[in-house]
Amino acid sequence: MSEFDIDHYRVRPGQKLDLSALDTRDTPFWDPKDKDGGRAHLSELNERLEALQELLWAQGRERVLVVIQAMDAGGKDGTVRHVFEGVNPTGVRVASFKRPTDKELAHDYLWRIHAKVPGNGELVVFNRSHYEDVLVVRVMELVAEKRWRKRYDQIVAFEQMLADEGTTIIKLFLHISKDEQRERLQARLDEPDKNWKFEQGDLVPRARWKQYQEAFEEALSNTSTEDAPWYVIPADRKWYRNLAVSEILIQTLEGLNMTFPKAAEGLEDVVIPE
Ligand code: ATP
Ligand code: MG
Repeated sequence: MSEFDIDHYRVRPGQKLDLSALDTRDTPFWDPKDKDGGRAHLSELNERLEALQELLWAQGRERVLVVIQAMDAGGKDGTVRHVFEGVNPTGVRVASFKRPTDKELAHDYLWRIHAKVPGNGELVVFNRSHYEDVLVVRVMELVAEKRWRKRYDQIVAFEQMLADEGTTIIKLFLHISKDEQRERLQARLDEPDKNWKFEQGDLVPRARWKQYQEAFEEALSNTSTEDAPWYVIPADRKWYRNLAVSEILIQTLEGLNMTFPKAAEGLEDVVIPE
């Protein structure tokens, strides 16, 4: 495999995006015919991530937030399942943000989000996030434009505060094509053990695909910063998506140069009693 250059997927601050021009089946850092090799490599990456997460937890100083957004059936759950395989659940948490409850709606949109951010030594994955408040809210016209439009700056300021206070932020957009979504939704209808995942409601965002893509383009462009970058992951091929996400997490965690805490004073004199 060629060196996996994660910057290839990074959205530069203010960069204009045309998602339709980005190939959702692209595999620039792995031979697309070598799917088995890619899968085997993921196991190695799983082990590296496991070791890095242990270090994160042992050191107990850094906080890591991974935000995942995608269209329905975009693979958010599958990504979490495969990328974190083997990682010790202690210190790792997934927070899923569904349609807000009445109580959540009675507060500002960041209220429920801030409550779930990682503490020291923790890695938290957001399955959907505050970005819904400029995506579904925009496309489905749940609040007035002049209100959601201000949220880009508010989100940048919120995330910058988290970063300044010691949180490393990684934001991932799993980019699938409209055809791939159709196949995955069809599979949810056809395969009995996937029926539970099918929701008639998912057809509404599908019908507004173009508006959603525009909402993603603007959100990613306006909120990708040096300290809280967005990455656009080609996600039609699940095995490649998993490799890309793993590499981004691993290379970012390695960049933190974490070390295990020093041994306590006098540890060398300790004798374990018979
Ligand atoms: P799956 O892909 O397995 O279906 P999911 O993430 O789609 O998982 P669901 O419970 O099916 O989970 O959907 C969550 C729904 O909540 C989505 O339709 C999403 O747009 C909606 N939602 C999340 N946050 C908000 C928000 N702030 N305002 C309005 N709707 C929201
Ligand atoms: Mg859903």
